[in-house]
Amino acid sequence: MSTAWNSRRTAYALLVCLIAASVALSVLIERSTGAGMTRLVHLFDVVALLTGAFLLYHVQARFRVEQQLAYQAGHDPLTGLAHRRSFEARLRSLPARPHTVVLGTIDRFSRIVGGYGHGFGDRMIIGLARRIQHAAEECGGEVYRLDGANFAILYQGRRDSPEFDTAIGALRARAGQPYVCESHEVFTTLSLGAVCYPQDGAEPDVLLRNADAALQAARQAGGDTLVRYSESLNAQAGQRLDLEAQLRRAVERGELELHYQPQQSLSHGGLIGFEALIRWRRGGDLVAPGHFIPLAEESGLIVSIGEWVLEEVCRQLSVWQADSGRRLVIAVNISPRQFAAPGFLPHIEALLAATHIDPSCIELEITEGVMMENAESAIVLLQRLRALGLRLSIDDFGTGFSSLAYLSRFPIDKLKIDQSFVRDMGTVKEQSAIVQATIGLGHSLGMTVIAEGVETEAQRALLHGWQCDEIQGYHYSRPLPAKAALNFLHGSMQLRAA
Ligand code: C2E
Ligand code: MG
Ligand code: MG
Repeated sequence: MSTAWNSRRTAYALLVCLIAASVALSVLIERSTGAGMTRLVHLFDVVALLTGAFLLYHVQARFRVEQQLAYQAGHDPLTGLAHRRSFEARLRSLPARPHTVVLGTIDRFSRIVGGYGHGFGDRMIIGLARRIQHAAEECGGEVYRLDGANFAILYQGRRDSPEFDTAIGALRARAGQPYVCESHEVFTTLSLGAVCYPQDGAEPDVLLRNADAALQAARQAGGDTLVRYSESLNAQAGQRLDLEAQLRRAVERGELELHYQPQQSLSHGGLIGFEALIRWRRGGDLVAPGHFIPLAEESGLIVSIGEWVLEEVCRQLSVWQADSGRRLVIAVNISPRQFAAPGFLPHIEALLAATHIDPSCIELEITEGVMMENAESAIVLLQRLRALGLRLSIDDFGTGFSSLAYLSRFPIDKLKIDQSFVRDMGTVKEQSAIVQATIGLGHSLGMTVIAEGVETEAQRALLHGWQCDEIQGYHYSRPLPAKAALNFLHGSMQLRAA
C-alpha cells in the first residue's frame, strides 16, 4: 500500500516537473529571438513528447489494473477458471442454439482430503482443473469451477451427438489418469450429469436443477459415470421422497429388524459372536440394507435408525447372555453420518449406563472412509469410545483410502478384510497377495483379522493357512433372524461341549 502510494507521488511530482518545464520553456520562447529560439522550440518539443509518453504509460497501466480486477472478479483464485457467477451469467446469455451443460464432481474428494489433507486437496483441484480445461477446450468446451470439487462445462451442440460422446470420452480419460502428488498416487474419477439447452430447460434455474438431478443420479450409481437428464430422473427423485416418507414411518411402526450373522474363530472352530445386519419388513418383503441405508444416510434418518440398532443389540445381548450364560460379542455397523452426529457418544454412554451391558461385548464397525474423512477428530472420538470399553473394527478394509500412517494411530481392535478380496483370492494371484499382506499388517499392528464373505471350504482353508484369526460368511452361516441365531448359539455350545 505505502509502496504504491510512494510511486504514485513520485509519478505526480515528475508530471508536475514536466508541465512546469514546458510552461517555463514557452515563456522563454516568447521572449527569445533567432537561433536561441529554435533550440528552445526543440527542447519544448522534447519535454512535450516526454509528458505525452508519461501520460500514455499511466493510462495503459490503469487499463491493465482495471482488466486484472475485472478478471479477478470473474474467476476463481485457486484454479484461475471462471467461477459460478460467470457461469450463471453465461447461461443467461446463451444464443438460441443447442448447447450441452455438464455438471461434474470429483468422486470421493472429501475422503481424499481427509486422508491427505486440505493442501493436497487444493493441489489436486488445481491439477484436475487444468486437465479438465485442456480436455474440454480441445473439443470447444468452456470450463467453470463452481465450488469445492464441482465443475461445470459448456459444450456447443446436443447431449446425444457423437461429438459430445467424443468430448466426454476425452474428458474422462484425461481426468482418470493417476494423479501423483508428494509421492502419493491417487486415482480419481468424475461423476457427470448432462442437460441440453433449450430442450431440458430454457431458463438457467430449470437447466441447473435438471443438470443437478442427472449429477445426483451419476453419484448414486457409484460415480465414474455420465448420466444424461431425462424426465424419469425427476420421477425417480419423487419416488425417493416417497420411500423416505415410508422409511420414516417404518421406524415408528417397528418394521425394522436385525438379523445376526455368526462369526467363527479359525483357531478353535467355535462361534465368537455375531454381526447385526438390519432388514426392513415392508409388506410381505424383507428389504436388504443396500436398498434403504444410503437413503437413510442421505436424509439423516440413519441417526435414529442407528440408535435403534444399538438399543436392540443391547437388549438382545442381555437376553442371549441370560439364556446361554455365555459371553458374546455383537458387531454393529456405524454409518458415516451416525459417527459424525454430535449425539453419538452421549447416546452410547447413556445406553451403557441404562442397560449395564459389558461394553466389550459390543464391537463398533466403522469403514476406513469414515475414519479418514476427518482423521484427527476421528482419533479423538475413537479413543473416547475405546475408553468406554467398546471394541472397534474397520469394516470393508482395503476398499477405501487408508493412510498407513493414520492406521497405526487409530485405536482399533480388528480389521475386517472386504469380501471382494476374499471372493477371488483362490484364483487371482494379486488378491491372494493382498489378503496375506493385510493379515500380516493387522497382526503387526496388534489387531485381530477377520475375513468377510467366506463362502467355500477352500477359502476357509487358505485363510487358516495364512493365520487369519476369524471368518464370517455363508460357509459358516448366512445372517439369521434372532430366534435362529439363538438356536445356532445353542448348537455351537453343544459342539464345543461334545
Ligand atoms: P457389511 O457390514 O460389510 O456386511 C456384510 C454384508 O455381506 C452383509 O450384507 C452380509 O449379508 C453379506 N455377506 C455375508 N457373508 C457373505 C458371503 O459369504 N457372501 C456374500 N456374497 N455376502 C455375504 P447385508 O446384510 O446386505 O448388508 C450390506 C451392508 O449394509 C453391510 O455391509 C453394512 O455396510 C450395511 N448395514 C447392514 N446393517 C446395517 C446397520 O444396522 N447400520 C448401518 N449403518 N449399516 C448397515
Ligand atoms: Mg459390517
Ligand atoms: Mg463389510
